[in-house]
Amino acid sequence: MQGLEDLYREIILDHYKNPRNSGTLEVPPAHQADGYNPLCGDEISIYVNYDGERITDIKNSGQGCSISRSSASLMTNAVKGKTIAEARETIKTFKRLLLLDEEGEKSEPVEIDLRKLGELAALQGVSKFPARIKCATLAWNTFTQIVDELDLQIDGAND
Ligand code: ZN
Repeated sequence: MQGLEDLYREIILDHYKNPRNSGTLEVPPAHQADGYNPLCGDEISIYVNYDGERITDIKNSGQGCSISRSSASLMTNAVKGKTIAEARETIKTFKRLLLLDEEGEKSEPVEIDLRKLGELAALQGVSKFPARIKCATLAWNTFTQIVDELDLQIDGAND
């Protein structure tokens, strides 16, 4: 298993050193949410462009530890181009990977197809370090605020 852990460490370092989708988008039209993890001092702002069907663009800016920054990079890569329903599914799968339920509480391990997760699987090891889980989930929880907001707009449009 050492080989796999090395690969995961490399992926996390790569996303930390070469962050994907970093920067900002003009608000509005973009949706913005900010997040802060007081346990570690990680900060993030996430920007999403949504065309009514898909997340057409997503950017993030912020500062923090390597886990929080690489998780933000991996998250933006994972949800870009997705519908809201698909993005929610990805959030759910990521939380399961960290042994969390949808509310972020500790849950029992669930069978996950790591191949389907792609590079996100690299964050699996964080589940062994409870102190770092808030670092890894910061970008995801902040992104969830935007997803919730977009869901409300979709519901409103259907009324
Ligand atoms: Zn952190």
